[in-house]
Amino acid sequence: MIEWTMMENKQILDTLIIGSGPAGLTAAIYNARAELKTMVIAGNQPGGQLTITTLVDNYPGFPTGIGGVKLMMDMQEQVKNLGVEIKQGIVKKITKLEGVFEIELENDEVLESKAVIITTGAAVKWLNLPKEKELIGHGISGCATCDGMFFRGKTVAVIGGGDTACEEAGFLSKICEKVYLIHRRDEFRASMTEQKKVLNNPKVEIWWNSEVVELNSNNQDTSDPNKLENIKIKNNKTGEEKDLKLDGLFVAIGSSPATKFVEGFIELSETGQVMVGKNKEYVTMTSIEGIFAAGDCVNIKHKQAIVAAGEGCRAALDAEHWLSSN
Ligand code: NAP
Repeated sequence: MIEWTMMENKQILDTLIIGSGPAGLTAAIYNARAELKTMVIAGNQPGGQLTITTLVDNYPGFPTGIGGVKLMMDMQEQVKNLGVEIKQGIVKKITKLEGVFEIELENDEVLESKAVIITTGAAVKWLNLPKEKELIGHGISGCATCDGMFFRGKTVAVIGGGDTACEEAGFLSKICEKVYLIHRRDEFRASMTEQKKVLNNPKVEIWWNSEVVELNSNNQDTSDPNKLENIKIKNNKTGEEKDLKLDGLFVAIGSSPATKFVEGFIELSETGQVMVGKNKEYVTMTSIEGIFAAGDCVNIKHKQAIVAAGEGCRAALDAEHWLSSN
C-alpha cells in the first residue's frame, strides 16, 4: 500500500485522478509505477462508458475481442494491485492553494493533491423533448450496443447522422426487424465508410431532413404504462408531420464532456471540452498549472478507448515530469 506524506496531519497525494475510464486508469497505472502517491475518484459510472458496451473488438491484444465490463474490471484490478485506492465519489470543486490543490467531493470530503488529472469522459446528449427522461429505459436508449438485444425482431429508430448513429443503425439492423435512421439534414456527418454501410443496408430506411418533435407513450399497456409507442417526425423542408410507431428509439446525437464542475476555473472549449496543448513542454496540461486532462473530456472526436488510454498515459507522464521539476 501507498506510504502517505503527512503535512499538518493531512495526507497529501502526488496525483489525484478524477474519472475511472481507460484514460484515468491508465494514468493511475503509470503514476503508481512511478511511485507517486496516486488516488482515483471513480465518478458516476465507475469504469466509464466501456462498462455499458458489450464486445470491444478494436482494443489491441484481444484477438477475439473482450467484453467492455471485463476490460474495465481487469484495468481496475491492475490499478488496485499497484496499491492505488479507487474511491467512490464525485468531485464537486477544485481549489488552487499554495503548492497544493484542494479537491472537494459531493459528500463534502476534502482531499489534497499536488497534481490533478481530469479524465471524466463524456455523457450522452439527449433530445430534450417532453417525456424523454421518463421514457429512458422504457423504449428510449442512448446506447445500441448495450440495449439493442432488448429489441430483437422489433422496429426501432436511430436519431443522428454522425459515426455513432450510422454504426448503431448497422448494429441494430442485425438484431431488429426494421431500422429507421432519422437525420435532421440531407447529408451525413459520418465518415464515408460508415455512410456507405448504412446507405447499402436494405434493413435501414433513412429519413432525411427529419426531426423528432414528439414522443408518445402507450398508457394502455398495463405491463409498462410508461413505454414508448410512437414518435412524431417533422420534415424541416416541407413542414410535413408523420407519426412513426416504434418499439425502440436510440438517440445518437453526440456526447457532452463531463466538465461542468470545472467551469469558470479551467479553460473549456465552447462545447465544454477541457483545453490542453498550450504548454509545449506538458501538452496535456490545462490552463491551470499542475492540472492535466486526458480522454473524451478533452478529445470527443476520436472517442475510442485506446485513444483515451494513450492520452491517459501522456497525462500521467506529464504530471510525473512536472512534479519532479516543481
Ligand atoms: P457527432 O459526430 O457530433 O454527430 C452527431 C450527429 O447528431 C450529427 O449528425 C448531428 O447533426 C446530429 N445532432 C446533433 N444534435 C442533434 C439534435 N438536437 N437533434 C437531432 N440531431 C442532432 O457525434 P457522434 O456520432 O457521437 O461522434 C462523435 C465523435 O466520435 C465523432 O468525431 C466521430 O467521428 C467519433 N466516432 C468515431 C467512431 C469510429 O471511428 N468508429 C464511432 C463513433 C464515433 P448535424 O450533422 O446536422 O450536425
